[in-house]
Amino acid sequence: MASIDGLPPLREVIRAHGLSAKKQLGQNFLLDLNLTAKIARLAGDLAGSDVLEVGPGPGGLTRGLLAEGARRVLAIEKDARCLPALAEVAAAWPGRLEVLNADALDVDVAARLTPPIRIVANLPYNVGTELLTRWLSSDWPPFWESLTLMFQKEVAERIVAKPGSKAYGRLALLAQWRTDPKIVLTLPPEAFTPPPSIHSAVVHFTRLEAPRHPADPKVLARVTAMAFNQRRKMLRSSLKGLVPDIETVLREAGIEPTQRAEEIPLEGFCALARRLAG
Ligand code: SAM
Repeated sequence: MASIDGLPPLREVIRAHGLSAKKQLGQNFLLDLNLTAKIARLAGDLAGSDVLEVGPGPGGLTRGLLAEGARRVLAIEKDARCLPALAEVAAAWPGRLEVLNADALDVDVAARLTPPIRIVANLPYNVGTELLTRWLSSDWPPFWESLTLMFQKEVAERIVAKPGSKAYGRLALLAQWRTDPKIVLTLPPEAFTPPPSIHSAVVHFTRLEAPRHPADPKVLARVTAMAFNQRRKMLRSSLKGLVPDIETVLREAGIEPTQRAEEIPLEGFCALARRLAG
């Protein structure tokens, strides 16, 4: 059956352009166009939105985004071998796909897109958390409305983790402070070509207009870094040196100095950051 865009199946695209997967670029491709369309739908209503896609590879998810009605897609791909395949996708959707051959870590994307902007990507695992941390640490509200991103399942679980669990830490606090992150799909290794060694999961982040609890981002980042760098220690000891009388400051924030980082909810860390800033 012909696909909606009239382009060949992805297996053929990969063969025709010699796109053997490169491990160092985190290349695990999605070849099922029903699945890539499903991921595009998980991003919400794309009609009327510009979409940033990082790492389009042979273009499976890109085709899903365009078929699901994205107004424009900016796709940033580091591997120049993928450009001819992506040029074919661009030709099938005139004026709607721009491809940049670059490292996504080096591009100022906000300047190239028109709001509302959604970010959707099957991220290269080696740059996934770095890009996510940047997108979550910018001035607020950020340039994007939502993020719909594939991660290793273990990373996705760290993003949505709650206090008291092993997965709870800085990434959970950063994500949950100013967004509502949810795991919306999990995928087995066989969904990818070649299959990675681990399961994967798609996380959808809806941005909140304002943080859940007030705090200075830099102070919050500093205090959570210190607390979780020694997560098994009591806070009176892991945060020693931050201010002369840390025990009093902790108590004023409603935290017992003998508690450990992984027991403290987001609200507690924000209260502590406010005390330290004030
Ligand atoms: N989106 C495709 C899919 O779903 O089948 C490919 C996903 S694959 C997991 C990750 C892609 O990101 C690869 O095409 C790889 O070349 C690209 N990539 C890796 N590092 C990158 C970087 N720093 N900037 C932009 N693209 C990168």
